[in-house]
This record gives sequence, C-alpha cells and structure tokens, in this order.
Amino acid sequence: MSTIADNLSALFQRIGSAAQAAGRDPASIQLLAVSKTKPAAAVREAYAAGVRDVGENYLQEALAKQLELADLPLTWHFIGPIQSNKTRAIAEHFDWVHSVDRLKIAQRLSEQRPANLPPLNLCLQVNVSGEASKSGCTPEALPALAAAVAALPGLKLRGLMAIPEPTEVRAAQDAAFARVRELQASLGLDLDTLSMGMSHDLESAIAQGATWVRIGTALFGARDYGQP
Ligand SMILES: *Cc1c(COP(=O)(O)O)cnc(C)c1O
Repeated sequence: MSTIADNLSALFQRIGSAAQAAGRDPASIQLLAVSKTKPAAAVREAYAAGVRDVGENYLQEALAKQLELADLPLTWHFIGPIQSNKTRAIAEHFDWVHSVDRLKIAQRLSEQRPANLPPLNLCLQVNVSGEASKSGCTPEALPALAAAVAALPGLKLRGLMAIPEPTEVRAAQDAAFARVRELQASLGLDLDTLSMGMSHDLESAIAQGATWVRIGTALFGARDYGQP
C-alpha cells in the first residue's frame, strides 16, 4: 500500500508534468487536499508530507477535524454545498470558500465574517455541465452574481470553481475547463483563481489554467462512503 507521502510525491510529479506540457510554472498551481470522510490522522500525515491546504465538504465533520488538528498551521477551505444555517460557522472557521452559487449565501458570509479576520477568500461555483449537475450557478447568471459578490466587504472574490460532469475523454474535459476559464475572463474583474481539476482530470484542468487542483482519492485513497 502506498503511503500518503508517496501519493503526494506522485501528485507533484503529475502536476509538474502537466504544468510543463502547458508551458506553465508549476508554482502557479496549488494542491488542495480534500479530506472528506478521512480521519484527522490522515490529514496529520499529509501535513507531515508537506500539505498545508485542506478542503472539506461537510461542516460538522470539518469542525471536528479542525479541533483535533488545532496545533497545525493549516489553511481550511470549504468546498461543499452551503445551506443558510451553516454560513456563520463557515465564515468563522474557514479561510476560503469555493462553493458559493447564490447571492444570499454570499451576503450572509460577508455579514458574518468576524471583523478581526481578513476577508473570506471566495470562489463562485459555476455549472458548465447543464442538467448533469445541480450545484453551481448558470453561466448566464454568473456576471450579475460576480459583480454583486465583488462588492461585499467581508469577502474577497478570487475566481471560479467548477466540477464538470465526470468523463475520461480528454477533449470533453478540456472543453469544460476551457469554458470556465473563458467565463472568468469575460467577467472583466481582477480575479486570480481557477479552482478546477480533481484526481481524474487534473492534467486537463492545469492545461486550461487551474490554480487550485482539489485532490481527494489520489492523495488519501478511495473513500468508503460519501460522494464521488
Ligand atoms: C470530493 C471532492 C473532490 C476530490 O475528488 P477526488 O476525485 O477524490 O480527487 C474535489 N472537489 C470537490 C468539490 C469534492 O467534493
């Protein structure tokens, strides 16, 4: 069985090769370790191997792990669907949120962000696969949403996040990620972040400009339960 450290070095190889193929500086691509369903001990092992950014999908699970790992200088990212009654805890306990797709949620996060913390880094999730995915705003709704969110004082709009319909067809992966990049460029805002690419499609995402790749399975191994 490979260890988390082995998996991480294999991932850095993949990221490095993909960056080279795309003519990009590998340092412009950051790895977000997605630890949903995995124990705090696995995150601690990842930290020892060099991971500093951790992504979680479920609030209660994330808060429990944050308590167990409070001695580590980790940066926490919320990447799951957000209900209104969870915004306060997310605003208080995370550095980044990648999965905002409605103005109401953004407004609550902005109002509830504690004044002693820097603005919450935020990505808007956009749905580029139509019916196939329910999360994410539509490309049509994105310009107005982005303009409104960019004006909220408790937030710093950094860019877009997307989870395209899973496919092993490279051309289809490329088309979806290119759409995200083009949508971001079309906003005409000063954005520096594209959160896209997971274990199976990070090469395509990097070719299309990803700055965060969100990696679960290829780092921590298969999940026993939870979403794919
Ligand atoms: C689970 C998850 C990931 C990681 O997926 P893997 O295929 O295991 O790498 C990335 N992003 C989001 C939003 C997720 O929910």
